[in-house]
Amino acid sequence: MTTEPALSIQGLTKSYGRVQALRGVDLEVGQGEIFGFLGPNGAGKTTTIRCLLDLIRPDSGTLRVLGMDPRADSIAVRRRVAYLPGELNLEANLSAEQALRYLADLRGDDIDWNHVRELARRLSLDLKTQIKNMSKGNKQKVGVVQAFMAPADLLLLDEPTSGLDPLMQQEVYRLVREAQAAGATVFFSSHIISEVQAIAQRVAIIRAGRIIRTLDPHELIAMSTRRVRVRLREPLPEGALAAVPGVTLIEGTFKEDTLKEGHGMELTIQIEGEMDAFIKALAAFPVVDLETERPSLEEIFLTLYEE
Ligand code: ATP
Repeated sequence: MTTEPALSIQGLTKSYGRVQALRGVDLEVGQGEIFGFLGPNGAGKTTTIRCLLDLIRPDSGTLRVLGMDPRADSIAVRRRVAYLPGELNLEANLSAEQALRYLADLRGDDIDWNHVRELARRLSLDLKTQIKNMSKGNKQKVGVVQAFMAPADLLLLDEPTSGLDPLMQQEVYRLVREAQAAGATVFFSSHIISEVQAIAQRVAIIRAGRIIRTLDPHELIAMSTRRVRVRLREPLPEGALAAVPGVTLIEGTFKEDTLKEGHGMELTIQIEGEMDAFIKALAAFPVVDLETERPSLEEIFLTLYEE
């Protein structure tokens, strides 16, 4: 049994003309891990993944994919790796099924078409529809089916839930977990913190072509600040939230006009770290509505740089 990492990247650099996309990326992903690659637009996620598949050539650095050199062993690597590109270019006149058969033939995979139909059913994708008549989200589903239709030892997924609605995103998370349960390693890119938290066991944060930190996804919440809007049926007693750790009141307004009975209250609150203490303090009062903003990557970067 080999203990070799599923992915190993050392000193990876890549420039496109004068644009330095990767400035020395070092990364190791263990076998069987679900690993999130988190970074804003243009950070270098796609470039890294494309180098791993030898779709583009790095300027320098050492890469190992499932213990192999992606350039020297490119055919062997592609046999064992499933890849979901950020944008899958499909022939517009083909139906989803024809496009999938074409891709399967290219790879030489022996596909179980019952499994493909089951994937399509789970993703609510009609395989008979022509690609040219599909929405962005439905095209993304074809890409997802393509990535999961054949058994693979490693899945490289470039923003797998891009363009999918929340229910379908959940379905993709399930597929990722099932792939892991079947023994695969999953490496996926994302710019959404909540998504990485939902499925990744480890995460590397990339920005401007460099890995800033590799961490446990739970640490992301501890580092994040987010805004919460609360609407209450009655005004809160003064100081009700003041003592709650990590909570700062940004704005509080009475909203007589929006509520029929009594004086309601709408508050905007900033919370640092976990929400538990805040939710428990709030639970004692009549909450009409609660909205939370997604923690932003920029906030995380600020925290990291402050450290
Ligand atoms: P996104 O989340 O927007 O997909 P990303 O993290 O995947 O971003 P890359 O696509 O790897 O980032 O891009 C890294 C940098 O390289 C960006 O500055 C991008 O503009 C540049 N870049 C990428 N591909 C090319 C190309 N073919 N020619 C020139 N510049 C490129």
